[in-house]
Formats: sequence, structure tokens, C-alpha cells
Amino acid sequence: MAVMITEECISCDACAPECPVAAILDENNEKNPQDSFFYVKPESCVECVGHADAPRCVEACPTEGAIVWDMPYTKEYNDYWQAGQDAGTYNIRVHKKKGLMLPEQKEQPFIADVSMSDRESNANIGRWA
Ligand code: SF4
Ligand code: SF4
Repeated sequence: MAVMITEECISCDACAPECPVAAILDENNEKNPQDSFFYVKPESCVECVGHADAPRCVEACPTEGAIVWDMPYTKEYNDYWQAGQDAGTYNIRVHKKKGLMLPEQKEQPFIADVSMSDRESNANIGRWA
């Protein structure tokens, strides 16, 4: 990751078709741990690095505060993602052989310019700033 979708989401489905890596699940998807709003799979989200200059999902989203920053999906934050998994916030994919696909198994790209304080506070992603 990553970016995170919050309860501000109105399930309009504008974001999911824009994601270059199919990381966004609707509220009815059985792999979505939230039952009333959309969800970003952190183990899949690449923050659009290599695809666009900014997160495409945010460009498409009509709702301020529905998509916010989350921590990088890197080994350094492995414990953070494990804790979120344990708490039910995330539903990280389980690989048949490798097990839970935490960053220690596979890291994802992230936008280095975003401050860790913005990530830690789940700050809005700048489009409305
Ligand atoms: S930031 Fe990019 S890769 Fe991540 S969920 Fe949004 S559109 Fe998909
Ligand atoms: S575009 Fe925004 S409001 Fe619509 S489903 Fe995606 S996150 Fe939710």
C-alpha cells in the first residue's frame, strides 16, 4: 500500500475500474473485510507508481475523505500490516505455499514524497487540498 478507503465511501464504483492493478474490491466482494464500503487490497496497491503521477482512484473519487493515505507496503512496516490483519481491518491474501502475503513476502512500490506523518494520520490524498 498503500491507500485506504474509509467509511466516507458512498460505493459509487468510480474508482475500481480506474485501478491499474485491480486492487479495489466492492462492498459485496467476499474478500472485502468491510461490509458496507469499498476496500483496497494493500498487498496489491502500487500507489499507481509506474502507471500515473498520482493515485488514479483518487482522481476518480467524488467523495472527499473516502480515500486516504496508509503506510508503505514494505518490510519496515510488516508489524503494522500484521496488526491490521489481526484486527480485521485488512484481509491480506493467503498464498498456498508462502502463506500470508505480508510485505516480508512481497513489498509494493510507494510514493516516496508522501510524509510518514501524513500516512500515519491517514491524511486525505491531496486532490482537495
Ligand atoms: S492508488 Fe492506484 S494502485 Fe492503489 S488502489 Fe488506487 S488506483 Fe489502485
Ligand atoms: S470512487 Fe470513492 S466513493 Fe466511489 S466507491 Fe470509490 S472510494 Fe467509494
